[in-house]
Amino acid sequence: MIINGLEIAKDCRAKLKEKIDKMEIKPCLAVILVGDDPASQIYVANKEKAATEVGIISKIFRLEKTTKEQDLLNLIEILNQDKNVHGILVQLPLPKEIDEKKVILAISPEKDVDGFHPMNLGKLVAGIKGLVACTPKGCLKLIKSVQSDLTGLNAIVIGRSTIVGKPMAQLLLQENCTVMMTHSKTKNLPELCQQADIVVVAVGKPNFVQGNWIKSSAIVIDVGINRLDTGKLCGDVDFNNVSCAAITPVPKGVGPMTIAMLLENTLEAFENQNS
Ligand code: NDP
Repeated sequence: MIINGLEIAKDCRAKLKEKIDKMEIKPCLAVILVGDDPASQIYVANKEKAATEVGIISKIFRLEKTTKEQDLLNLIEILNQDKNVHGILVQLPLPKEIDEKKVILAISPEKDVDGFHPMNLGKLVAGIKGLVACTPKGCLKLIKSVQSDLTGLNAIVIGRSTIVGKPMAQLLLQENCTVMMTHSKTKNLPELCQQADIVVVAVGKPNFVQGNWIKSSAIVIDVGINRLDTGKLCGDVDFNNVSCAAITPVPKGVGPMTIAMLLENTLEAFENQNS
């Protein structure tokens, strides 16, 4: 079974639109893009389009590549104070002269729709309601579209980044999975993977996970986005050689869900700020 992220994301967006259409005041998302990285420009354009379609007001701030860190921090502070802005997203990566960690810390946790602020990450670990990072939040919805009760399942997360792997492991733990968190220093990864009922891969290496690592009853979520020399996109899983219960394709798997969850988080931030 191929998990159709595109369709599931479409459903999420339709539900959001229905809610937002009924609202008198609309949520507003501010997106800051620094520099002219082509991939980031496409991501920002896609987020703007998706936001507009569901009725979220989007304000895009395009800053020069040479923008000083302090000027970016000043803009974030203005947006933090602006009661008409409910979500703030700074598109990553930033030019190397700017300290990403400082920028993430500067965003008000209530407006941190990416869920990257340590306050929101900490809330996730503590089991307190907060804004959850969009990609792992979307991955969990995709898994639950196949199996709603994950209690007692063995899950493996490959990759321990703060934006995908670590929050993903926490979400699976909250669903009562037994979670294995793995990374580049993990030994016997194929054997560990073979024990997993749920496999989430966020490594960034084309076709890294081989077909014989995956058991036939597993649900496989491929977060990786890799561009091959041919220009074709592929994930971290050797998709054509995997035989399992359910798997996400790349593209049209996790990617569309990430954007849908950004919109969901923007509405959630709006509701929190107005409750
Ligand atoms: P990072 O580079 O931050 O993290 C990669 C992780 O993979 C690290 O934890 C690293 O381990 C681990 N890793 C590297 N090599 C191995 C190995 N041989 N065995 C096991 N683990 C390994 O990447 P991100 O988490 O930011 O992104 C991962 C992928 O997901 C990328 O392709 C990215 O483009 C994609 N992505 C897709 C999104 C979407 O919406 N679809 C959103 C975000 C990311 P260690 O910590 O030890 O170095």
